[in-house]
Amino acid sequence: MTMPRIQLVRGREKSIHRRHPWIFSGSVAKMDQGITEGDIAEITDFSGHFLAYAFYEGGSIAAKIISFEKTEITSEFWQKKLKNALEYRERIGLINNPNTNVFRLCHGEGDNLPGLIIDVYDDIAVIQPHAKGIKVREQQLAELLCVTFPKIKAVLSKSTASGNKENHDVKWLLGTPKPLVQVCENGILFMVDVEKGQKTGFFIDQRQNRLKLAQYSKDKDVLNTFSYTGGFSCYALTSGAKSVTSIDLGNNAMSLLDQNVSLTGFSQQHTSLQKDVFEFFQTINSCFDIIILDPPAFAKHNSAKHNAIQAYKRLNTLALEKLNPGGFLFTFSCSQVITPDLFEGTVTSAAIETGFDIRMVERLFQSPDHPWNIYHPEGLYLKGLLLYKAN
Ligand code: SAH
Repeated sequence: MTMPRIQLVRGREKSIHRRHPWIFSGSVAKMDQGITEGDIAEITDFSGHFLAYAFYEGGSIAAKIISFEKTEITSEFWQKKLKNALEYRERIGLINNPNTNVFRLCHGEGDNLPGLIIDVYDDIAVIQPHAKGIKVREQQLAELLCVTFPKIKAVLSKSTASGNKENHDVKWLLGTPKPLVQVCENGILFMVDVEKGQKTGFFIDQRQNRLKLAQYSKDKDVLNTFSYTGGFSCYALTSGAKSVTSIDLGNNAMSLLDQNVSLTGFSQQHTSLQKDVFEFFQTINSCFDIIILDPPAFAKHNSAKHNAIQAYKRLNTLALEKLNPGGFLFTFSCSQVITPDLFEGTVTSAAIETGFDIRMVERLFQSPDHPWNIYHPEGLYLKGLLLYKAN
């Protein structure tokens, strides 16, 4: 098979020897003519020696590596990767699990499939292509997915329309469209709008953190801010919370939030508020035993980092002030550019500002079906802290 070639600047092969899957545009010395975005190219060092095969992406991340070994890029190649991803989910107990049928089947670079996100909602799979190389192969990948994991009966592709994260191009690649799916996560039922919902429809990455919340919720007054469709709220309710208040600005989120709460049978203990969280904190007098802060990514790029840190600090200060002594704060950041150290430092400075006696209980991360490649630390994006406010 002849493939277009991309030759690297001398010395830039080092990151590939460390198995980092991205090639930045500044590392490219020369490219064959006619190479198009989404093509698979052979990457060589300056002397022309083989290094890897990669999707040519054309952006500041010029290429994303799909193989460090010489191999034929055939259907079998892709199927083996999907099988690998599936086997891992089997080993962590997510396949044929009677309590959970919603999980991430493929986490991009974390599964050695750069740019490929696949989330499973019962018998529906949602593909999110984050690489042009995936986008142009999505139909083939959808077909291979159904062969590899025959439980899947329909596949939706959901691409982020350029420039606006809230707008998605939605296309059913296979099977009968099913925009609204009922799923079960740790025994709790949720309705998921895979077409119009955020990301692929549900924040699957918080599964293990929601379970943690459940351990602390009995008889507590819980405030779930940035609640979306009520993931954390439903866990608190089913674990015996005295009251749960959920706040979100989004229109779509609110109706599914109320539906999900009613599926728990604890609507009486629940209040939903369509409000800005920052405003809410400034206007309330009451305090809570548990507060969850799970805001959207305040910083999507390095340029927004400074403002994001200020926003996280303000939010965490406001929440600590509204937490009862003896209470717990679950605080998160899903901004990839905010590292765990930076987040911890920011939350610490929020605590200093309040002057309260705050204990660090646990560091929290994305759930295990969102593994990150040890050679690609950028794959860790969700980090959180569980804090205790002493009496
Ligand atoms: N914790 C949720 C996911 C949160 S996603 C879960 O487990 O499912 C972030 C949410 O914050 C989105 O639903 C968005 O509508 C909401 N949001 C963003 N800015 C907001 C603001 N200023 N006030 C209230 N909600 C906001």
